[in-house]
Amino acid sequence: MKNHLVFALMMFLVQSVSAQKVELIVLGTLQDGGMPHIGCEQKVCRELIQHPDPAKKVVSLGLIDHDYQKNYLFEATPDISSQLSLLKEYSPFQKDKIPNGIFLTHAHMGHYTGLLQLGKEALDAKSETVFAMPKMKSFLESNQPWSMLIDQKNIQVESLENETPKQLTPNINVIPVLVPHRDELSETVGYKIVGPNKTVLFIPDINKWSLWDKDILTQIKAVDYAFIDATFFDNSEVGYRDLSQIPHPFVIESMDLLNNLSKSDKEKIYFIHFNHTNPLVDLQSLPSKKVKSAGFQIARVGMQLEL
Ligand SMILES: [Zn+2]
Ligand SMILES: [Zn+2]
Repeated sequence: MKNHLVFALMMFLVQSVSAQKVELIVLGTLQDGGMPHIGCEQKVCRELIQHPDPAKKVVSLGLIDHDYQKNYLFEATPDISSQLSLLKEYSPFQKDKIPNGIFLTHAHMGHYTGLLQLGKEALDAKSETVFAMPKMKSFLESNQPWSMLIDQKNIQVESLENETPKQLTPNINVIPVLVPHRDELSETVGYKIVGPNKTVLFIPDINKWSLWDKDILTQIKAVDYAFIDATFFDNSEVGYRDLSQIPHPFVIESMDLLNNLSKSDKEKIYFIHFNHTNPLVDLQSLPSKKVKSAGFQIARVGMQLEL
């Protein structure tokens, strides 16, 4: 082949790869109760009532496929209004008010109650697709006010199957993975989000890592980024109760468990889902500096990752 033809072919390949752009945006990092947290008398909550911080939002991720002009929201939080608006800002192609779909992890207030904003009293959405696991779906279908959203065709719920990929575009697959949690009303899943080049693991809520039927170390090695439950940093936040009795992996427990991972595997880990008491909400706190110097990352609103 002539040199200029080889060059033209290479340029074509480079362009087609670089045009394949899928990105993940962090839209919220807090535990269900958000901040300022109800009943919180700490200085930080009092100050937030006076001076709201747009970066203090309940845990949520945005997923954008620029090639196929589609976008998705993970979690319908109480902060959904501002999170949808932020997702739209990052999605210049978006014409509708809502994204192409919303993925739910479970029926705890921080993760699904934002759906109410899609109802007649607020947005009056038209058949927004909500992706949920079977128990979560039947919970929404059989309980008010959620079933009214379905009856009024504000939302339509599409069922997911554990560990079965849901293809969203030729660039993106999303795989739900069951995790142990307080499952009063629904099962709980995390998600693996598989982009054209990179994969993200998202587990905002889980009981102890040892209770999961998967090994978190192996799971982290198999992905490029992992956003994992960091509800509490240590037991000073829970009145120095026995760590083993609190159904979340404390950050200090996770850091111990994940400490022997290689430097590049540790860098994949972004702690997320912070209770208002967690010192990681303040990037300047001593625990935040400890987490960073141990080689881990702390999720922040506005972070963008190319997949
Ligand atoms: Zn939660
Ligand atoms: Zn939960």
